[in-house]
Amino acid sequence: MKLRKTAAAAAVVLALTASATACGKSGSPDDESDKASGGASAPTLPTYKVNSAADVKDSPVFEKIKGKTITIGTKADQPGLGFENPGTKKRSGFDVEIARMIAADLGFDEAHIKFKTVPSEARETQIASGGVDLYVGTYTINDERKKQVGFGGPYYIAGQDLLVKADSDIKGPDDLKGKKVCSATGSTPLKRIKEAKYGVGEAKAQQGYQLCVQDLVNGSVDAVTTDDSILKGYAAENKGALKVVGAPFSKEPYGVGLMKDDKALRDAVNNAIEAHMKSGDWKKAYDATLGLSGAAAQTPPAVDRY
Ligand code: GLU
Repeated sequence: MKLRKTAAAAAVVLALTASATACGKSGSPDDESDKASGGASAPTLPTYKVNSAADVKDSPVFEKIKGKTITIGTKADQPGLGFENPGTKKRSGFDVEIARMIAADLGFDEAHIKFKTVPSEARETQIASGGVDLYVGTYTINDERKKQVGFGGPYYIAGQDLLVKADSDIKGPDDLKGKKVCSATGSTPLKRIKEAKYGVGEAKAQQGYQLCVQDLVNGSVDAVTTDDSILKGYAAENKGALKVVGAPFSKEPYGVGLMKDDKALRDAVNNAIEAHMKSGDWKKAYDATLGLSGAAAQTPPAVDRY
């Protein structure tokens, strides 16, 4: 009896997952539904109206890409945020949706967006050299980075946290004395965890967080540290084996990286972010991506027009 009930429940989950996939807008791959824990109402992604009359006066970057293709840098190994399905090559996640909504307001449909995978350490050089026109990938706004790039947003506020094995007794950054901790090269969490007060035994730098998660699973590190938003996605993929400690110890406001002095483009990106927060797209996109790993949406942060 119990077995049959479980099978029936699994069938419901499968049906929900299938219908969520069927409802996804064309050209907006919703791989996240694969990862859904199977709640009663499977959230669907919003669709974005492309502004075919878009113009951004006095923007050198927009002038270059107008009527062509926009290249947007993002991550590919962060489920729920910026993920590329290795088989289908489809992109999904909250960052990818933020990129799509901004692109639509700038006049680019899905066929005219080129997503480019750029790891944390290469962001500033890719933006400053024109390798990407925008960057949307868990990119913390800070003054040091502002010396090299500009930022739209913030569009989300994360906080640095720790991912550990389910049976670990690490409860926060104060328990890291002498431990091995992994993070990504060029990231704010790696820099912070090296501060003397945490006394970590080894701060291991990897190209991306997925590699750190592998290190954690095979026991070569004791913890992975980065934003809670990123870690929740990995915890959801490794349910029962890994857990997020849940004691964030920094503020990481996520911005949209762009060419440093292109104020016109920065204004246009901020207008787009605000419009999609107001319309409800932001919340809908969150619920259908990052929200699937279990955390309710925060109140959208106020955009900072510095
Ligand atoms: N938000 C942090 C940063 O921008 C960590 C996440 C990342 O590396 O993308 O450095």
